[in-house]
Amino acid sequence: MAQLSDPLADILGEKAGAALAKALELHTVSDLLRHYPRRYATGGELTTIAGLDEDTHVTIMAKIAKVELRKMQQRKGTILTLTITDGRSELSCTYFNQPGLVKELVKDRHGLFAGKVSKYRRALQLTNPQYLLLPDEDHPQACSSESGGPFGLAAVPDEQYFTRPLLPVYPAAAGVPSWTIAQCVRVVLEALDEPEDPLSADLRAEHRLISLSAALRGVHLPEDTAEVEAARARLRFDEALSLQLVLAQRRQADAQRRAPACPPRENALAAAFDRRLPFALTAGQVDVGREVAADLAETHPMSRLLQGEVGSGKTVVALRAMLAVIDAGRQTALLAPTEVLAAQHARSLRELLGPLGRAGELDSAEQATRITLLTGSMSIGAKRKALLDIVTGESGIVIGTHALIQETVQFFDLGLVVVDEQHRFGVEQRDALRGRGRDGATPHLLVMTATPIPRTVAMTVFGDLAVSTLRELPRGRSPIVSSVVPVLEKPAWLERAWMRVQEEVRSGRQAYVVCSRIGDDEQTDTQQETAAVLELAAELAAGPLHGLRVEVLHGRMPGDEKDAVMRAFAAGEIDVLVATTVIEVGVDVPNATAMVVMDAERFGVSQLHQLRGRVGRGGHAGLCLLVTSAPQGSPARERIEAVASTVDGFELAQLDLEQRREGDVLGVAQSGRRSSLRLLSLLRDGDVIAAARVQAQAIVDSDPRLEHHPGLAQMVKSALDGERVDYLAKA
Ligand code: ADP
Ligand code: MG
Repeated sequence: MAQLSDPLADILGEKAGAALAKALELHTVSDLLRHYPRRYATGGELTTIAGLDEDTHVTIMAKIAKVELRKMQQRKGTILTLTITDGRSELSCTYFNQPGLVKELVKDRHGLFAGKVSKYRRALQLTNPQYLLLPDEDHPQACSSESGGPFGLAAVPDEQYFTRPLLPVYPAAAGVPSWTIAQCVRVVLEALDEPEDPLSADLRAEHRLISLSAALRGVHLPEDTAEVEAARARLRFDEALSLQLVLAQRRQADAQRRAPACPPRENALAAAFDRRLPFALTAGQVDVGREVAADLAETHPMSRLLQGEVGSGKTVVALRAMLAVIDAGRQTALLAPTEVLAAQHARSLRELLGPLGRAGELDSAEQATRITLLTGSMSIGAKRKALLDIVTGESGIVIGTHALIQETVQFFDLGLVVVDEQHRFGVEQRDALRGRGRDGATPHLLVMTATPIPRTVAMTVFGDLAVSTLRELPRGRSPIVSSVVPVLEKPAWLERAWMRVQEEVRSGRQAYVVCSRIGDDEQTDTQQETAAVLELAAELAAGPLHGLRVEVLHGRMPGDEKDAVMRAFAAGEIDVLVATTVIEVGVDVPNATAMVVMDAERFGVSQLHQLRGRVGRGGHAGLCLLVTSAPQGSPARERIEAVASTVDGFELAQLDLEQRREGDVLGVAQSGRRSSLRLLSLLRDGDVIAAARVQAQAIVDSDPRLEHHPGLAQMVKSALDGERVDYLAKA
């Protein structure tokens, strides 16, 4: 008999085992049983041919309508053309040099055909599709294109397969069609010993779940759709629980780490700063400030995510946290994703702190600290000075880009790491700084993001962080009005857009124009119609924006040049900044009120939302014009219209999630590995994830290392190996 961990070759034979390993990376019994059907065909029902997509691998049930064998004209050899039908549409299948197939492929036989859909002379077709012909009155034997291959007899499913009410259709690969997988699964299930259930009977009863053994059988060999649902519910819960157990263990491990406690001090820097703030904090800022202060006072490290709309005032919250840590005699680091942003943070923190941030200078205040900027493009001399200030503890606030991580930066006593725009950094990067505390202590961590995070993502990808949210914008903030400028249908609207920019500038305001590319490289075909920073800036200055001070900003400019342009824009010396998405995150110029985004279809939902957050940051109303040539009704156009129709970041984040593939969210697609979350959907399974989270926390609270839950420990191990968890967290 067989166990879940047994190699497939032991049960199916060497050749079949090797074929499954090669084609689908299935090695063990468990691998195969977790290769779930993509869908289920109901017996005898033909698959609709009209809806097939080009370039996809399909498995369809059809009837042979016509068979034609002829000699090739130019070369030696034969072409067998098969026309298959669903009763309405037809699809042609071609086999080259296999004349013998006419014995099996005869008119009126029903069967499954599998292959990649291609287009030939504007018609869809399958080339050399694999087939499984069903038995019928004239042909008592089923037959398959695979019977001579590595699977031998297993390539042709036995009779029971055809009489099933629901035929499982598996994700298949060349050489291993769906029906062969089905047959292998049947053989394996028959040999399988009842597997031990990692969920106790109590747990199953509480969550109304069937046993693992019933679920594995039910998902592969269901009698009806209710059985499929029950099986999937159980397997989905296992995935959610595995994930949440890992996250709960990680939270637990964090809590075991030692951190420098930084309780609030009276009459120190933080208090002095609050007194000199030119505005009242919003209620949200006060609340979150309290949560953060409580975390910082603890002797284990804070791990907190601060999310809030662009302009909701996250920086002030972070700065107050930093000052509390400085008051406790420690240093703080602020990690920004770009040099522009790092430089801007340095400027705005200096301004907010005033004399409190000028330690060592003539007009400094008594408790003052020092702000140090460290970026890759600084001169060697400036860098050396910065490194010295950091290692001696002179500087309380260190602001930098990746350089902070990469360079051999030594802190005197690092107590808090603030990461701005987390999605630009991986977990390893944020943890690199966390390893630099004094005497093995772990600095506190505050991660800031303006990209709102849907609840399910917060519970998974960011599941090891506590979450604080700033929901309101500071008073005086004006709403942003967004409109779509459809250049295909309304070319005149673009002219009108430039006139609006002129008007804004005439009333003393400034504007951004955003392009999807720089335009200093050779053009590729797909880029030809899109606007480029360098060309558009020249065109605008000579034409529609003649007389205005137009400058460019993009990522390939040297650091000091970028900085000079941003400074000039902030000082009002530039009217219109034509830029790439370098301005996407955090750039804060309150006098900028208008933004024109060219080729808006080139940007994602969250990105557009981020971009438009750059305007309307002062007391004046913001305007965002989304220029696009995407035709009405296209998905891209709908996406842009959705962005124009709401400023609710959470709604947009949900939309963004719907538009991305699940794998992308988990960061798996990029890494090219298969997700072990197969049934669990971040989009649809919020409730399951929430229930699993509560359950996992309870289990880990009582048994942190799962020593008394060997089944669960094993489930976690096989579902998510160590690397997988890293991928999850990095997404
Ligand atoms: P975020 O980083 O969340 O996008 P910032 O912290 O940069 O937002 O704040 C945006 C602007 O609003 C800054 O100029 C900041 O000084 C200002 N601001 C922050 N909090 C308040 C407040 N409570 N009242 C008025 N203005 C505020
Ligand atoms: Mg910010």
